[in-house]
Amino acid sequence: MELFDVYSLFDVTPVKAQGCRVWDDKGVEYLDLYGGHAVISVGHTHPRYVAALKDQLDKIGFYSNSVQNPLQVELAHKLGKASGYEDYSLFLDNSGAESNENAMKLASFHTGKDRIIAFHKSFHGRTSGAVAVTDNPKIVSPFNAVHKVTFCDLNDAEAVEKELMKGDCAGVIIEGIQGCGGINLPDIEFLRSLDVLCRKYDAVLILDEVQSGYGRTGKFFAHQWADIKPGIITMGKGIANGFPCGGILISPEFEAVKGMLGTTFGGNYLAMAAANAVLDIMNDEKLVANAGEVGEWIKANIPSSPRIKEVRGRGLMLGIEFNEDVAPIRKKLLFEKHIFTGVAGKNMVRLLAPLCLKKEEAEAFVNALKEIL
Ligand code: PLP
Repeated sequence: MELFDVYSLFDVTPVKAQGCRVWDDKGVEYLDLYGGHAVISVGHTHPRYVAALKDQLDKIGFYSNSVQNPLQVELAHKLGKASGYEDYSLFLDNSGAESNENAMKLASFHTGKDRIIAFHKSFHGRTSGAVAVTDNPKIVSPFNAVHKVTFCDLNDAEAVEKELMKGDCAGVIIEGIQGCGGINLPDIEFLRSLDVLCRKYDAVLILDEVQSGYGRTGKFFAHQWADIKPGIITMGKGIANGFPCGGILISPEFEAVKGMLGTTFGGNYLAMAAANAVLDIMNDEKLVANAGEVGEWIKANIPSSPRIKEVRGRGLMLGIEFNEDVAPIRKKLLFEKHIFTGVAGKNMVRLLAPLCLKKEEAEAFVNALKEIL
């Protein structure tokens, strides 16, 4: 049997990783500024993280959500504290797309309405429900046409209000910072307007923090730069540092009804051991602040060049937009300088490094980019 060939692969086979470093099967060492697509939050194979998983595996690997699981309660407690959302509730699932589906479902249960407003260039996942609010013709299949979604331009509050006034919108879903669409930041005032408009028209503001959350931008969630409190916040990626895990934070305005949401694997013991370890490490090593500081240092030190159009983002969620196709630049970074980076569209190098990135590592990247340019 062969693998279904849907991924463009670099010819690199990682076999070992530690902190922000990855080694391939030929012994070549790489600097990882991509974190497996924003997944590595506390660094690869952090000893406390590894120990927590091993310890849990010795006790109990899996049992269903029909029994008490103290690790979920522990996570809810820690997450409430770390994020400042102690009055919200936590529902656990397995991925970012599933979190967004659960959020939209909950918004429609809560409001009794069925239309969703999303934004051009957004990305919310690959399940049919999540992809329906994803504005990329390459991945939207005819099947998604069944969903009721209206796309507005980012930062156009008037357009959003026009839709909300029609009275059939259950919610507005927006990324804290658009990731796959090219590191596009919602204006702070725009986020505040969405918050006000959603309350005014009885719709739920859903903040997709799957990529922009968990400390990445220098605050726990990116929307906290706007000082708003959305109805639902969705999470995934870095929440368990690579162990599949997702979840949503739900405002106290929502009433839980038995059977409303559910999942087999969500909140399982191993994912919870991993997620609890992540929050402990983030807290003890002050990784949110580190992401903010090191990310801002990179932003300020990207060499100026006529080939670079703009550097956008916050903390360690950065996009370097070029005036040209970045594929050759990324290849040079990977194969000559041994640095992993990501991409958005054709012209943007996207950085989503582990939150523990050190200043020296950031300097190594900036110097490598200078040499390439
Ligand atoms: N939402 C955002 C903002 C994302 O960036 C992604 C993945 O890239 C998702 C949702 C989907 O997450 P997952 O691939 O874990 O389903």
